[in-house]
Amino acid sequence: MNSKPNIRSFDLDELSRFFVKNGEKSYRAKQVYEWLWKKNARSFEEMTNLSKNLRLFLDNHFSIPHIKIKKFQHSIDGTIKNAIGLQDDLVVESVLIPAKKRTTACVSSQVGCSLDCHFCATARLKRMRNLTPDEIVDQVIEADKQSCDYYGHSLTNIVFMGMGEPLLNYDNVMRAVEKITSDKALGMAARRITISTSGIPKNIRRMADENAKVGLAVSLHSAIDDIRTQIMPVNKRQGGLKELLSALQYWYNKTKRKITFEYLVFKGINDDEQSIKALVDYAKKVPSKVNLIEYNPIDASDRFQQADAHILEAYKTALNNAGIVATLRKSKGQDIDAACGQLANKFE
Ligand code: SAH
Repeated sequence: MNSKPNIRSFDLDELSRFFVKNGEKSYRAKQVYEWLWKKNARSFEEMTNLSKNLRLFLDNHFSIPHIKIKKFQHSIDGTIKNAIGLQDDLVVESVLIPAKKRTTACVSSQVGCSLDCHFCATARLKRMRNLTPDEIVDQVIEADKQSCDYYGHSLTNIVFMGMGEPLLNYDNVMRAVEKITSDKALGMAARRITISTSGIPKNIRRMADENAKVGLAVSLHSAIDDIRTQIMPVNKRQGGLKELLSALQYWYNKTKRKITFEYLVFKGINDDEQSIKALVDYAKKVPSKVNLIEYNPIDASDRFQQADAHILEAYKTALNNAGIVATLRKSKGQDIDAACGQLANKFE
């Protein structure tokens, strides 16, 4: 690893202070910031509106690290999966999902994951570390480039549904969101970003208090405590469904933005009448919609199986009858293990 500090880990104020302390005008910091975040410069040499001396000075003090794409896979349905090499050679994955008029980047927030959701491939990798803000932003920069190259238009949406639990890397994820949305950096609209969480009530409240403009998705998968805890042990650790609901109501009251519940239906686990009723009752308590997502098997020894189609229809009907929008979503990129819950650095 490079021992010079990473200049991309400083925000504009910090850079300005550094410049002033070293006898430079503070607007120089703005210029450098723009090179780094708007023009995506990879070296100080490129920063041609700075004097040669200043470029040399910066080069002696800082590095400009960037993620590296180690492996690129293209699915038959157009989905792209990247294995991404980080500054310390650890690897995460990111996915790019094309639809008719939009392209969604699915980005990772941690290397591995500390949660132990039994149906998720990433859970098998222990959590190694949090991603830094620039490692998160870099995934978006690369995805945008790929979207332009392969689909002919810029990236339109970003979901934090890759590896890791974004709300357990709160500060870095929010710093990344700031860079993605700031007009001094990438300048994308915050409403095009969705944070997906297994439900960390304290940080859902914090995000509401800090007036984050992003969308919120919650991986629910059961509205019955015992069942949810059985498949997602984090449920119990975070105080159960009641605690989660209260944080979600808090979020809605502050932001007036609906919550999206992500919901998998498994054979023999949550494919019964009682589970359907519990979900309807739960979703009625906070303005929300439900995405019934398709289960992507993680390996041959899998003990989970997708429920039958008529059960999914029964969920949809019950939700619709209660006035809740529910959609059945097909996964993409299964042939390259790029679908939800399949990110597990298998290429290693
Ligand atoms: N930790 C965050 C984001 C990563 S998971 C969260 O829990 O939301 C992204 C989504 O994929 C979640 O809704 C998760 O429950 C779902 N998922 C995990 N494993 C899956 C699998 N095998 N098939 C389909 N979806 C899965």
